[in-house]
Amino acid sequence: MGSVETRPGVSSPEPHDKMVLGQNSYKKNLMGLSPDQLEDALRQCGIKEKQLRMRRSQIWNALYARGATGLQDIVTLSKDLRARLAKDFTIDRPEISQELISGDGTRKWLLKLAPEREGENAPEIETVYIPEETRGTLCISSQIGCTLNCSFCHTGTQKLVRNLTAEEIVGQIMLARDQIGDWPNQEADNSEGLPEAERKITNIVLMGMGEPLYNLENLKTAMAIAYDSAGLGYSKRRITLSTSGVVPMIGKAGADMGVMLAISLHAVHDELRDELVPINKKYPLKQLMQACRDYPGLNNSRRITFEYVMLKGVNDSLTDARGLVKLLKGIPAKINLIPFNPWPGNHYECSDWAQIEKFADFINDAGYASPIRRPRGRDIMAACGQLKSQSEKIRASERRKAKNAQ
Ligand code: SAH
Ligand code: SF4
Repeated sequence: MGSVETRPGVSSPEPHDKMVLGQNSYKKNLMGLSPDQLEDALRQCGIKEKQLRMRRSQIWNALYARGATGLQDIVTLSKDLRARLAKDFTIDRPEISQELISGDGTRKWLLKLAPEREGENAPEIETVYIPEETRGTLCISSQIGCTLNCSFCHTGTQKLVRNLTAEEIVGQIMLARDQIGDWPNQEADNSEGLPEAERKITNIVLMGMGEPLYNLENLKTAMAIAYDSAGLGYSKRRITLSTSGVVPMIGKAGADMGVMLAISLHAVHDELRDELVPINKKYPLKQLMQACRDYPGLNNSRRITFEYVMLKGVNDSLTDARGLVKLLKGIPAKINLIPFNPWPGNHYECSDWAQIEKFADFINDAGYASPIRRPRGRDIMAACGQLKSQSEKIRASERRKAKNAQ
């Protein structure tokens, strides 16, 4: 995490060791380690210096290209070495606490993570898979909760517990690929991994819980695995980081990772954006737009996506549309209109469909691609932060019932 944006109370833990139930020992997860960290781990396990690089790439390939789910599956290593590794290490995925499958094929997992300290409640995050005709998108989380309080976002009402480790970020991709069967056939000699054309998950978006730019260091380690051609093998053009506008970190993210950028814009003047996306008070639109103009590698085929949530009577007039076109002038941009996904206790309403279309037509006519994001998985509450809150509510009511019964 960059020093500029370190937040009080937000720790950026090293990959933490996991307590393995039934054993009195902590095992380190090999998933999400950088190549150097992986070599260090193998060194600690007694692997000789001259074998380190080879063992590292055997494990890397088994994990990320072939999708091994247990150390015993890494058949390129000797039985003895597998047993030695298994004493200290694991490649366990995060634990699923709930899986929901929508009628439209969207799948959502609520994942239980290891508590930082023994005896604490296990924190939970969400990962969502959205299949479409020509692609499959995996939406992953970067933090548990979020410190920013965007007024229309449910995650913003949840208190931030901590940043996710690189293991937990990569773990979401690994788990989703396990669940939907997105690995090469284990018997086939396919050490290159699943070819792009055969993949179910073709795109990764950092649009789940949390603000990714407040967790840049862990994200960098995780994304280096995601876009490594010998690792998970997603092209940088198919990974999109969405930020609410942490201006000082935008250029750094571009230089260090070079993935696609999405900006949660939602308003075209400071007064309204201060209210909807309060980080705007710290980094107002002028600074944000400059950071966008400076984002490395932009051109007509590599544009910034501007996300714009459609809130009835708040930001959906044609004056707003005109303001949007003016604001984005000169920036290679596409605009993603998101119908507001309502949640209990929030006073906003989604704009009428006819208004969304009028808005979209206006910006289309101005020359911008402006797809309207189709609401997906509403029957399983696939919007930002909602499943987790629902499950917390269920648990709270179960607790109350149990208490009353006593
Ligand atoms: N924190 C980052 C990424 C996670 S949010 C960010 O803010 O960009 C991903 C996207 O979902 C953001 O554009 C966010 O503004 C939007 N979003 C949040 N709550 C929403 C809701 N209830 N309806 C529609 N979009 C929402
Ligand atoms: Fe956090 Fe993004 Fe939600 Fe804003 S929209 S509260 S930055 S998760």
